Amino acid sequence: MKTLGNYIDCEHVASQSGRTATVYNPATGEPSMQVALSSADETRAAIASAEEALQGWSKVSPLNRARVMFKFKALVEEHADEIAAMITAEHGKVFSDAKGELTRGLEVVEFACGIPHLLKGEHSLNVGRGVDSYSKMQPVGVCAGISPFNFPAMVPMWMFPVAIACGNTFVMKPSEKDPSTTYRLAELLAEAGLPKGVFNIVNGDKEAVDVLLTDPRVGAISFVGSTPIAEYIYKTASEHGKRVQALGGAKNHMVVMPDADPEQVVHSLMGAAYGSAGERCMAISVAVCVGDEVADNLIHRLGEEIATMRVGPGVGLPEEAHMGPLITKEHAAKVKGYIDSGVEDGAKLVVDGRDFVAKDHENGYFVGPTLFDQVAPGMRIYDEEIFGPVLCVVRVNSYAEAVKLINEHEFGNGTAIFTRDGDSARQFCEEIQVGMVGVNVPIPVPMAFHSFGGWKRSLFGPLHMHGPDGVRFYTKMKTITARWPTGLRAGSEFSMPTMK
Ligand code: NAD
Repeated sequence: MKTLGNYIDCEHVASQSGRTATVYNPATGEPSMQVALSSADETRAAIASAEEALQGWSKVSPLNRARVMFKFKALVEEHADEIAAMITAEHGKVFSDAKGELTRGLEVVEFACGIPHLLKGEHSLNVGRGVDSYSKMQPVGVCAGISPFNFPAMVPMWMFPVAIACGNTFVMKPSEKDPSTTYRLAELLAEAGLPKGVFNIVNGDKEAVDVLLTDPRVGAISFVGSTPIAEYIYKTASEHGKRVQALGGAKNHMVVMPDADPEQVVHSLMGAAYGSAGERCMAISVAVCVGDEVADNLIHRLGEEIATMRVGPGVGLPEEAHMGPLITKEHAAKVKGYIDSGVEDGAKLVVDGRDFVAKDHENGYFVGPTLFDQVAPGMRIYDEEIFGPVLCVVRVNSYAEAVKLINEHEFGNGTAIFTRDGDSARQFCEEIQVGMVGVNVPIPVPMAFHSFGGWKRSLFGPLHMHGPDGVRFYTKMKTITARWPTGLRAGSEFSMPTMK
């Protein structure tokens, strides 16, 4: 069986660590290959390659760096079907969803193509007599990215296009559960003309990650994954003097007001809760219904819609499935365990996905769409991130109660309110303690030219991904104060202004 190694200096490098992990096709349960779990020394070799490339790449003009991004975008588009099939085979999400993820990633590449404009900085003339002041936005140096399994193309593409366009070099550590996509993107970057060593991949687990977090040659760490690991990454890398953005887990609530359009709510929730089998950090996992009538109607209509859902492999069916399998056997068991706990804790199980078996795919890691009513704080299915196709309905009596519930939850990644009342919507946007907010939009993922990130324990670090924050994260600001000509007489020195 093939073993995927590392990608260093634009070359495939076999790992000598002697440790590997198995990659599976989640729809069939069949192993597809082995991926290397690199040693500390192999990780250091990737960093060394990035460090060596830095001198040259950081001096390439932003315009020429953008030109590589333009070519890369064209190549990814040309190979979109091939890459999406790779995502479906290793992650399990349906093919159209895999293409959608690639499109969202490409939008960040398009943003990075505008880097000459984004790096213009600030300029003030005559801050003192004959004195001008301006800023330079210089690359941080060697940057590293560590990504989760659930968006094998999009999440790495939140990171490396902006970092590289800003003049940094990069070491990527993809998820060991679905590493092929990032590898293919690296090959296309090389084909687009990216010089050797600017983008490297080290496959692995904690051993490789710990080197990235502590090696003094790495200046910045971008991480996306679960909250306990995000917190560990933030603390460890910060202690070692690096700038860090570490995005963590989520529990996203959708508030359904009594005046919301009921059909719009049902259709939005079906996609937001069950799309990609709920393995999205912006999935809606809690519907907060204001009033029993809203909840009763919603539960009834969701039940009807769930009954029509097609669950199956991401490719190969005559009509595409709405939802594929979960990533691993262990994760499917964990999600079923959460459903058990919801029942034990007293929630009302309306639709049970535990016994679902996909036709002709009996060994796939499927869990059927699941719906709970009467969920409340204190139950594990409410307090914790399930990361599966499980939607919890919480009933509240007022808008204020809904806001309190959301603001008291430990996560603050995304949220949405469905209403026809502008006042409630505006107030919600103002007082909700969450980083990304939708108004009649169930999954409010910001476009690439805005920044993506949550609040509370969904993000550690001050700066979000891509958009203006991405450029700030991957550049160091230097401010120059200059006087030309130099021969001004004594008395006209530039100094601190005095109080009059
Ligand atoms: P994970 O935290 O298990 O793994 C993420 C990465 O960290 C992987 O590359 C993994 O190899 C590495 N890792 C795992 N354990 C480690 C350890 N002990 N030390 C060092 N590195 C370690 O997450 P996952 O299961 O791959 O992804 C799902 C999680 O990611 C969910 O919690 C989801 O909410 C979150 N996520 C968040 C966002 C966001 O924008 N906030 C986006 C996507 C996914």
